[in-house]
Amino acid sequence: MSSDFSPEQKRYLEGFVSGLSASRVARSSAPAKSEPVGPDAIHLKAQDRTIAAGGKLNDQEKFKRDEHPFDAYPRLVKQAENNEPPKPQDNFRWRYYGIFYVAPTQSSYMCRMRIPNGILKHWQFAGVADLAENFGGPYAHVTTRANLQIREIEPKNAINVIEGLQDLGLCSRGSGADNIRNVTGTSTAGIDPQEILDTRRYAREWHYHILNDRSLYGLPRKFNVAFDGAGRIATLEETNDIAFQAIEVLEGHGVEPGIYFRLALGGITGHKDFARDTGVILKPNEATEVADRIVRVFIENGDRTNRNKARLKYVLDSWGFDKFLAAVEEKLGRKLLRVPAEAIAPRPTYDRFAHIGVHPQKQAGLNWIGVALKLGHLSPEQIRSLAKLAADFGDGDIRLTVWQNLLISGVADADVATVTAAIEALGLSTATSALRAGLIACTGKTGCRFAAAHTKESADEIATWCDERVPLKTPVNIHLTGCHHSCAQHYIGDIGMIGARVPINDDGDTVDGFHLLVGGGFGTEATMARELFQNVKAEDAPRTVERVLKAYLTNRASDDETFVT
Ligand code: SF4
Repeated sequence: MSSDFSPEQKRYLEGFVSGLSASRVARSSAPAKSEPVGPDAIHLKAQDRTIAAGGKLNDQEKFKRDEHPFDAYPRLVKQAENNEPPKPQDNFRWRYYGIFYVAPTQSSYMCRMRIPNGILKHWQFAGVADLAENFGGPYAHVTTRANLQIREIEPKNAINVIEGLQDLGLCSRGSGADNIRNVTGTSTAGIDPQEILDTRRYAREWHYHILNDRSLYGLPRKFNVAFDGAGRIATLEETNDIAFQAIEVLEGHGVEPGIYFRLALGGITGHKDFARDTGVILKPNEATEVADRIVRVFIENGDRTNRNKARLKYVLDSWGFDKFLAAVEEKLGRKLLRVPAEAIAPRPTYDRFAHIGVHPQKQAGLNWIGVALKLGHLSPEQIRSLAKLAADFGDGDIRLTVWQNLLISGVADADVATVTAAIEALGLSTATSALRAGLIACTGKTGCRFAAAHTKESADEIATWCDERVPLKTPVNIHLTGCHHSCAQHYIGDIGMIGARVPINDDGDTVDGFHLLVGGGFGTEATMARELFQNVKAEDAPRTVERVLKAYLTNRASDDETFVT
């Protein structure tokens, strides 16, 4: 050190320099571990804990860690512009944008949208027709989550679809991969004479809450939330990870009487579980906050090693409700409200035909008209014409249902006949058989690589065959699903069918077919269907279902008896 410094300056500088070197030594010998920060931190910390505990992250968790899908957009855009099919890790990342590469069944993309509460404006619906025509099939499907899909999109058009949807005020963000999926709600919200609560604002609030918070993407697995207002059309909320069910709390139970949501958790019918009542109720305007905390507990504690055990159900199974709800309450900073079952008024039941045909709204002189679609299929021309009918004669809304069809709402009594005739002229219908009203099928082998059978085609053959031979007046739901992912929820159908490769000889040759289950139900009749037949060849499926239906008609005790009872 220079001798030009005074003793006081020397002491100060020596201390400063030695302090510097000491801290350098300390840092180099024991580097401080940098904690992840920012919106991805909650996920990175959960992954770190998994690794520290000796767990092996599954491939999808590694993909997320290597490059967050929302950081990959410029690279994915280039890939699309070059018309390149994606590698597996990028196929996973694309799904954050709602785009799925579905080879080898179709060497193209499928785009799944987000439509909160299943309700969109007529001009948005017409815009979807343009996108499907210019860049897709050309057709669109209504899905079992009251949503829309466009299929057969060439890689070079993927961005046109994503950005075209955003131009329409719609989006597809987060509708695939390990994200919170399209928010379902009562399809007749705000117009239903029997609803307890209009779910639209709660579904919308949750939709935007998810969309605008990056920390709520990239969960251990996909996550479903539904809001049921107790209308006449079932929402199937009990099949969701979080089910908010509108209820009325009665006087005299120590809680302010009024309208609340009841909280049920852990639904995943493909794993044979309905959402279970937690005993918790909440004010409707608390729903977003409580759902947010539930999701964050799941993010921190869901399984990141085994995809088959990564859904919320498995955290609940391993912890029990008390521990899980305590963790949610800790994040909320307050206790959740609980009431005994007797404090809640009985909920009105759904009507299994209310999604088809003409039904009076709560607004005098107005009606919703349920349009029957062939297993959710719509051509661009049908979409545009239905959109025009909604604009010219309805309130401008198109309401999608979980029954793979749609409603036009706000049609005046005087216009019902005109609208009904116009729908018929499109090759669609406002009346259908008891069997077709409850006929549900996933994409199946035509467009999904997981499928063991052609579900939509078989469903159509079954309905055509049985409608001519079985005089059914009461509704019977038939759900055909191509694989164990159970997108069409075969476990809740009166008759459920799951795709199977059916052996035809001892050489290992197989043909398309199904295992057949019976006795499933939903809502107040929520029951898991039980297997009745194994390995029914697809070509034999219509006759097998005919036998089952005839046995049901012959042996039921009354006309009201369902498969469940
Ligand atoms: Fe594909 Fe299986 Fe879902 Fe059907 S149930 S759409 S086959 S993943």
